[in-house]
Amino acid sequence: MAPEANVCVVQDKLSCHAWQKHAQARRWGGDVLPSLIHPFMRFQREQNTGAWVDSIEPCMCSQHHHILKIICVHMEYLEDIDLVVCSHRPAAIQLVSQGLFPCSPLAPTLAVSMDMLEFVSDLFVNMAPNERAWAATLTKYLKACGHEFATGDSL
Ligand SMILES: [Zn+2]
Repeated sequence: MAPEANVCVVQDKLSCHAWQKHAQARRWGGDVLPSLIHPFMRFQREQNTGAWVDSIEPCMCSQHHHILKIICVHMEYLEDIDLVVCSHRPAAIQLVSQGLFPCSPLAPTLAVSMDMLEFVSDLFVNMAPNERAWAATLTKYLKACGHEFATGDSL
């Protein structure tokens, strides 16, 4: 195989991966996230008023229904659930209605609780920046590239 052919295969895989990531970002931003705003607001309102019920009534539409097996990550435990989805009740809307956020827009296999997301969000906001680790890594990287500081001080 010619060297040029290897480069084309690698470039095709990269462009295919980049295209898939772009398509998924478009789906999240254009379709899924806007559809989750009202279910999320309803979940928050029901949870704050104590009216929230941890169950979903079965869908009675005539569309094809299928089951998604989803691992749910809560603060204190993991839970395996079987979610019955159809075009009227997409997985993302059902999960957000239950206080969970899906890992992918259409057929998630993992969902994370809103409590866990709030905790991680707060963690990253309040986490001390580890400048020492950053400086040590950069110093090591630059040294491996042949750049060394004349002084004994690190970054
Ligand atoms: Zn249905």
